Amino acid sequence: MNNVILVYSDDFKKLDFGPGHPMRGDRYQKAMDEFRKINLLDKLKIEKPESVKDDLITLFHTPDYVNKVREVSNSGRGTYGDEVPAVKGIYDIILLSVSASITAANYVTDKDYNVGINICGGWHHAFENRGRGFCVFNDVAIVANYLLKRKKLNRIMIIDYDAHHGDGTQRAFYDNPEVFTISFHQDPTTLYPFRTGYENEIGEGEGLGFNKNFPLPQFCTDTEFIAKFNQVTELIQDFKPEILILQMGVDGSRECQISNMQLTDGSYDHVSKTIVNLQKEINFKIIALGGGGFVHPMLGKNWGVQINNFIDRR
Ligand SMILES: [Zn+2]
Repeated sequence: MNNVILVYSDDFKKLDFGPGHPMRGDRYQKAMDEFRKINLLDKLKIEKPESVKDDLITLFHTPDYVNKVREVSNSGRGTYGDEVPAVKGIYDIILLSVSASITAANYVTDKDYNVGINICGGWHHAFENRGRGFCVFNDVAIVANYLLKRKKLNRIMIIDYDAHHGDGTQRAFYDNPEVFTISFHQDPTTLYPFRTGYENEIGEGEGLGFNKNFPLPQFCTDTEFIAKFNQVTELIQDFKPEILILQMGVDGSRECQISNMQLTDGSYDHVSKTIVNLQKEINFKIIALGGGGFVHPMLGKNWGVQINNFIDRR
């Protein structure tokens, strides 16, 4: 075994926003099918999520918002945010998704694991008091707060290379120097969330200098993406994170029409190799969370490229 764990539940398929919506529950099973084709699942440990209590959700979200999600989930009616449909029973499913991210965190902090993965995670748009952009609870922010408050760590870095700016995550730690947030994404004048994700957003107060955005041209290719991504090397070497949380969204693929970016598996191969090489040098642990990607088999292939590098290059 190579100290990589994938936290997975067949119940992830219940996270489904219905016909016509890009976020369909079968994406996790389809990704697992692709992992199987390249024999990935024989090379890592697979565990079910531990059950996690609601009090971990309020490490980031307000109790009022958590109650609101519960009410909408019970009735199947109403709203808890923009671009997040009301789905009956969604509360338990989102809690399962957050539980999987927390389980991945526990494996890398408490056990001898170097990489913890939850493909049903990376819900980076949710704010503390409302859901947004397909995201109900922001597991990225919840996990980072969990590491700070429950595990007493103080150097967390989040690198988000989903096609969309990780706005909820940026906002969560904007004044916090213990969590360095970095996002690579399509130029936000041309893509959701539009209002944030610009280079001049660099943190505030004590967090000044601990937020970085790398907006990329609307139709950017591997060459442009990789050139910008390479700037993380120096940022990681300077900050020396104890834990690196990745939001490994692959909706910047040229096959995924939700963005205009033109990336291929070459970008995702480069990103993951770069990160693993830095892990060998600096010795941080990795928590890798899913993120966007809505076309098959592209999704599983591009997540698979990354996970395979996490395994094979150590
Ligand atoms: Zn996205």
